[in-house]
Amino acid sequence: FEEIKNVDAEVAVAIEAELLRQQHNIELIASENIVSKAVMLTMGTPLTNKYAEGYPAKRYYGGCEKVDIVENLARDRAKELFGCDHANVQPHSGSQANQAVYFAMLQYGDTVMGMNLDHGGHLTHGSPVNLSGKYFNFVPYGVDDHGYIDYEAFRNKALEVKPKMIVAGASAYARTIDFEFMGKVAKEVGAYFMVDIAHIAGLVAAGFHPSPVPHADFVTTTTHKTLRGPRGGMIMCKEEYAQKIDKAIFPGIQGGPLMHTIASKAVCFKEALAPSYKQYIGQVVKNARVLAESLKENGVDIVSGGTDNHLMLVDLRGLNITGKEAEKILDEVGITVNKNTIPNDPQSPFVTSGVRIGTPAITSRGMIEEDMKEIAEVIAMVLKDFEGSKEEAKKRVRALTDKYPIYED
Ligand code: PLP
Repeated sequence: FEEIKNVDAEVAVAIEAELLRQQHNIELIASENIVSKAVMLTMGTPLTNKYAEGYPAKRYYGGCEKVDIVENLARDRAKELFGCDHANVQPHSGSQANQAVYFAMLQYGDTVMGMNLDHGGHLTHGSPVNLSGKYFNFVPYGVDDHGYIDYEAFRNKALEVKPKMIVAGASAYARTIDFEFMGKVAKEVGAYFMVDIAHIAGLVAAGFHPSPVPHADFVTTTTHKTLRGPRGGMIMCKEEYAQKIDKAIFPGIQGGPLMHTIASKAVCFKEALAPSYKQYIGQVVKNARVLAESLKENGVDIVSGGTDNHLMLVDLRGLNITGKEAEKILDEVGITVNKNTIPNDPQSPFVTSGVRIGTPAITSRGMIEEDMKEIAEVIAMVLKDFEGSKEEAKKRVRALTDKYPIYED
C-alpha cells in the first residue's frame, strides 16, 4: 500500500477511504461479498503482465506454460465444483458470459424468453437498453401476484412464441427456481436452455439450491457474488457445445484473458470446494431467513413473504418511502443497500418502491442469526423515523462492524 502511495497518492487515498467504508459499513448489497486475502492478493500478481490469447496448449503467444497451469486448475476445479462437462473461465464478467452464449447460438432477431427485468431479471436477459434486447427479440415472463415465478404462464408463453432459447435466472428473485420444469418446457418447444446462476452460484455449488447443470445446455455465472471470488464470469456447458462457446469468447467477443483474475478464480474454486464453504453458504441462507422474518416482525413487508436463498426484496409501499430515499437514508447510518423495482412497481426504475437486501457479505464477516435481528431492528427504525433514530442507528451499526472486523492488517 505504501508503494501505491509513493507513486500515486490520489488513488491510494481513495483506496484507503474505500477500505474504511467497507470496514465500517454493513454491506447488504446482495451481489457483493468480501473476498479472502488469498483471492485478493492473487489478483495483484505478475500474471497481470501476461498475454495469453487462446486456450491452454493452444495459445497465440509464447511463454504461456505457467499461465496454462493456472487456467487448467481453474477449469478443472470449476468442473468438479459444478459437475459440468466443460468450463470456460475467461469471460471478463457475467455480462460477457451471457453475450458469448447468445453470440454462439443465436442469429440477429431470434426470439428468446427471459425473466422480466421488473420482476427480478437481469439487463442481459433482454432489456431494451442492453445488446441482448437490441439484437434479439426477447419475450419476457415473470412472477404471479404472490411474487413467485408463474410457471404455467411461462409454459403457455413458450408454447405460443416458440423461442430459440429460454434464459432462466435472476438478479432479484428470492425463491428457489424450478430449473427442471423450465428445462422440460425448453425441450418441449425445441429451445436451447440457458441458466444464469450469477446470484445463486455459491448456493448451487454448496448444495443449497438445486443445480441447473443436469437440465441446461448452458450455465453462466459471475464469480464475485455468492461464490466469493474475483470479479469475473464463467460459462459451463455440455461437451457438444464446448468448441462453439470457447470460440464465442475468444476470438468472438474478447481478446487476451485476464490471467491474474483466472488465477484468482482458481483460488476461489478451491475455497468453495472446502467443507468450510458449505458451512458459510448454510449460514448465508439461515441469516437471510432470519433477516426476512425479523424485518416482517418489525413491520417491513417482503415480496413473496420471505426468501429461500441469500436475498430478499423489501416492499416499501406500506412505509410511504421510495427505494431511492431508503437507499439514501440507510447509507447515512452506514447500511448499504440498493434500490430495486418490485413486481408491478408504480415507480420508475430510477426511483423504485423497493430495496434489495442480501446476506453474503455480512456472513463473510462472521455475522450470525442474532446479528440479523439487530440489523432488522435498525433498518426498520431508520425507515420509519430517520430523523429520530439516525444517531442511535449509527451507534448500533458501528457496534456491529467493530464486533466483526475485516482486513485489519
Ligand atoms: N447475470 C445476473 C443474474 C446478474 O445479477 C449480473 C450482475 O448483477 C450479471 C449477470 C452481470 O454480471 P457483471 O456485472 O459481471 O457483468
